[in-house]
Amino acid sequence: MAEFTVIRGGQVVEARPRGAQLADLLVEGDTIREIGPPAMPAPDGSKVIDASGKAIMPGFVNGHVHGHGTLAKGLVEDRWPLELFLNALPGLAGNRSLEDKRLNGLVAAVEMIRKGCTACYDLFFEFPMPSRDGIEALGRAYAEAGVRAVIAPMVADFTLYQAYPGLTDAIPEPLRRQVQKIELAPYEATADAAEDVFRNWPFDRSQIRPAIAPTIPLHCSDPFLLRCRDLARSYDIPLQTHLAETKSQAILGMRKYGCSLTRHLDDLGMLGPHLSAAHAIWLDDEDLRRLADRGVSAIHAPASNMRFGSGLAPLRAMLDLQMNVGIATDAANSSDSLNMFESTRLAAFISRVLTPDFRRWLGADEVFYMSTEGSARAMGLGGMIGQVAKGYKADLVFLDLHHINYVPLHDLLGQIVFTENGAAVDSVMAGGRMILDRGRITTVDESKLRRDVEAAAARLSAANLPMRKLSGAVQDMIGRFCRALAHERYHVSRQAWREEELSD
Ligand SMILES: [Zn+2]
Repeated sequence: MAEFTVIRGGQVVEARPRGAQLADLLVEGDTIREIGPPAMPAPDGSKVIDASGKAIMPGFVNGHVHGHGTLAKGLVEDRWPLELFLNALPGLAGNRSLEDKRLNGLVAAVEMIRKGCTACYDLFFEFPMPSRDGIEALGRAYAEAGVRAVIAPMVADFTLYQAYPGLTDAIPEPLRRQVQKIELAPYEATADAAEDVFRNWPFDRSQIRPAIAPTIPLHCSDPFLLRCRDLARSYDIPLQTHLAETKSQAILGMRKYGCSLTRHLDDLGMLGPHLSAAHAIWLDDEDLRRLADRGVSAIHAPASNMRFGSGLAPLRAMLDLQMNVGIATDAANSSDSLNMFESTRLAAFISRVLTPDFRRWLGADEVFYMSTEGSARAMGLGGMIGQVAKGYKADLVFLDLHHINYVPLHDLLGQIVFTENGAAVDSVMAGGRMILDRGRITTVDESKLRRDVEAAAARLSAANLPMRKLSGAVQDMIGRFCRALAHERYHVSRQAWREEELSD
């Protein structure tokens, strides 16, 4: 018989309608069975959790993260745009042992748990191609820590130097020859390796699910994109890609395909409800309509978008078209933390600098919905996580209402979105199990983790030094190339993110 837990006296947060109610929750095994008034009856022998003085919110769902980034925290230079980050990637994520891949997942999981997040969509990169062992090592780490994850091998068949036409011409010899030597596996081998992972998926899919991520359209040949599309269909798994993240990508896409990146993906039959488009910044009205018509979700990563100066995504225009939108942090070295409270707040704030028409700003309830249910739907987990509701998984965050963030308390949801930074996260339950209990992670030995990670980081720093030297040597040339591109005029019918004049 499944175990019952009754959680008494907490204030349960709701995004729709916006508010909070004092309620008891009955959890059976990993699922919420009942939500009722305070002191509601519970089966004999139920475990009781006293949640008085606590707010109970659904665990955040991080719609786009990269586990491989966690061991490279702090190594991304201050003023790098995305392209310089990609140039440095082999030196940031290279030489990883299986144990390093496991540590990646544990560090990401612990940070997310401590900051109120219980599920993520991880696009995980392995050089030169994905491996069953590597994905398993990452998945085991998430499962061990108690975080739910959708794990997508992040794949490509072109490096940055091959993907951006003209880029290597901007690099003089002998450096050019050296960057040309960096090669990913041929697409057939990579797709076969990914398929091997899906065919032998070792995890319970309610905890750890597979997906596939052709990383950036320009970095993937068309036959490779088609193969990814077919893998997603055959194995019934979600797809995610970084869509039109930078202006350089949008311009080069137009040059390479003769149409926008979105249109090109549509022509290949890639757009559909199983696809989520991360970042989704450089889109015009037609692109947005295509994405909306095909049921594509967008994943907004505001901290990373601003960290890299990539641009601001047109969220209100997406909502106008009934698109599903989720929210994400992006990697621990590109945002530079896995704090969904921060990403949620930034999503609301960014909408306010795009138009003076305050009726079109995103409200706390809207962004909170995106950070929970919106991301869950994009991951294919809609109806299972993202709400404190009957039948949903018991993935709950307990916030201490005695924390200064809530003194005084007037508007719980508003204060969670606009004030909370993670400091009041007291406990976290995932699948009915306390994974953070009054400030202590119960599933991972954090002191051991710290020691292991420090040793791994020191070893990786030394092992990756030659690659980092090479990326450092070509960085100025790549920077110049991309700066020139970004200054080009970019013709689109109308950039939807430039909000139209006010209309009453
Ligand atoms: Zn990303």
